[in-house]
Amino acid sequence: MDTNTSLQALMKGPLPPLYFCIGSPVVGNPTQHMMEKAFEQLGYPGRYLTIEVDPDELEPSIWGLLAMHFQGGNVTAPFKQEVLSYLDELTESASLCNAVNCITRKDDGTYIGDNTDGKGFLQSLVEIAPDLEKRKVVVFGSGGAASAIVTELALHGVHEVVVVNRTLTRAKTLVNNLAGISRTTLSWEPWEGIYRIKEHDLVVVQATSVGLFQPDDCIKVAFTPDLHNVIACDVVFNPVETTFLKKAKLAGCQTLDGLGMLVNQGAIAVKQWTGKEPDRALMRSSLEEAFAVC
Ligand code: NDP
Repeated sequence: MDTNTSLQALMKGPLPPLYFCIGSPVVGNPTQHMMEKAFEQLGYPGRYLTIEVDPDELEPSIWGLLAMHFQGGNVTAPFKQEVLSYLDELTESASLCNAVNCITRKDDGTYIGDNTDGKGFLQSLVEIAPDLEKRKVVVFGSGGAASAIVTELALHGVHEVVVVNRTLTRAKTLVNNLAGISRTTLSWEPWEGIYRIKEHDLVVVQATSVGLFQPDDCIKVAFTPDLHNVIACDVVFNPVETTFLKKAKLAGCQTLDGLGMLVNQGAIAVKQWTGKEPDRALMRSSLEEAFAVC
């Protein structure tokens, strides 16, 4: 927005629509940069603020944001589940995976919570795997990101999804919660020692937090050679090319990084808030710009 337009809004109204990103810690989260670039490119006057919320003060913080008529926002760790109880409505995805990362104020003033993490991931994957329904997908992890992804894969009707997690009870809970929602065959497998990725594991998704804080770390997997039919995906987006993806590439896999998921979940939110389709390439380059600073 140019200075004149923003001054007009300040002096004569209407004031710009406000959006939030809440989490703890939230420093280091580049979403604001990406969202404000998207708003600007669309000519939308919205402002997007990154707000650190003390975990002991989530309730008054949420009531404050809603009372001030924020038009929506994003929720990140550790509030994705706790925030559910303050919302008027949930989408199917949010209710199935019991987590919200995107909130929208509806015309009647009520707030709806959605989970766009899994949808963002699915959009990236379908672009390179249009035959996804026929594939077997192995998902490593059972936390927030994995739950959102498995939920969306099941809603999409993927042929088979296997959840592999260090803590088996969490994998079982995730699978049991989604039982019967679609024709997808859902199962779990214990993660004993090293999981060997083979040719019939047509898509493998690294959805644990391993590699986020220690870029050299990798989950306990081994790739058999010549996996040219396999797509290996990582949800970790910083570094963009994780050790898991490097190993997968060496074994011949096609790879999908976590940045596409981050861009897509943001783009879905922008569309929900503004009704307009943002420029995803611009959003991706703005993230790369933010990571280059650190
Ligand atoms: P959670 O804390 O909810 O879950 C963490 C998961 O990682 C659990 O399944 C945990 O297993 C597993 N894990 C942790 N350490 C290990 C280890 N050493 N070996 C094997 N498994 C391990 O985190 P989230 O699901 O919210 O986030 C996971 C990652 O996804 C983060 O890096 C986050 O940045 C990324 N993310 C990316 C998004 C994107 O848009 N690209 C969006 C959202 C998240 P256990 O159950 O046994 O503890």
